[in-house]
Amino acid sequence: MPGLVIIGALGRMGQALQEAALAAGQPVVGLVDRPEFFGAPSPVAGVSVCCTSDWREVVQSGRVAIDFSSPASTIALLKGASVHKTALVIGTTGMGKDGEEAVREAAKFVPVVFAANYSVGVNLLLELVEKAAAVLNAHQFDAEIVEAHHKHKKDAPSGTALMLANALAKGREVNLQEVACWGREGLTGERPEGQIGIHAVRGGDVVGDHTVSFLGEGERVMISHLATSRRTFAEGAVRAAIWAATQPPGLYTMRHVLGFD
Ligand code: NAD
Repeated sequence: MPGLVIIGALGRMGQALQEAALAAGQPVVGLVDRPEFFGAPSPVAGVSVCCTSDWREVVQSGRVAIDFSSPASTIALLKGASVHKTALVIGTTGMGKDGEEAVREAAKFVPVVFAANYSVGVNLLLELVEKAAAVLNAHQFDAEIVEAHHKHKKDAPSGTALMLANALAKGREVNLQEVACWGREGLTGERPEGQIGIHAVRGGDVVGDHTVSFLGEGERVMISHLATSRRTFAEGAVRAAIWAATQPPGLYTMRHVLGFD
């Protein structure tokens, strides 16, 4: 049974992760968050370890560290993998190219599960979208992605929308960067065939909605996933941590954890 270290432990996801670990009977051996937040929500009932401000102090006490914090903090944790040698489950989004490079490098030393969305439903959605994109071809169907998240979310579009866009591009066998349209404004002209539109809505307490629409002449196919609780991401991440604890070093996604590959 892996002891878990949770980084970003007092945030929205961090608290859901503590609850999910407890529910799954997984011991939490370390909590990490920023000192200025220590006056805010405390560890959830039932988790008895203290929260520390530096992951370096506790990461090696866990078999797996789950990190849903901020890009700078997560990239530092990934860069330390050759030293701490603790398996990693990374949920932080918006890390950009530096983050992707750090993930690849860390995976040489430890198992790293990296997913912009840990819900089982979204990972099934990715499979469905790739298949639908291959059948509903670009000559007959225009593809658009719309995502909505709560007003505190810091990055846009969401990491999940990016994964969906990549699944669409893969299904259509095109390069996403050549066909992507990141929002629209002004005199945009007619929609080019094959374009993939990606749009972000922000507001309220929306946990995470994603809809992929295939818009044809006379019919529309729309595939949606609506997350109503962070618990779904947290449970998926804890499931990934239990799985990662027994894997050799390497880069893994939820496809591996769920056995899709
Ligand atoms: P949040 O702001 O509520 O929580 C983030 C926490 O990380 C905060 O408590 C903050 O103090 C802490 N933190 C930031 N920098 C830190 C550092 N240097 N050291 C220690 N702690 C630090 O945000 P959230 O809604 O919980 O989301 C966190 C991240 O997880 C975001 O990147 C979000 O996009 C991502 N997310 C991923 C998934 C997924 O399934 N992969 C799901 C939801 C959210």
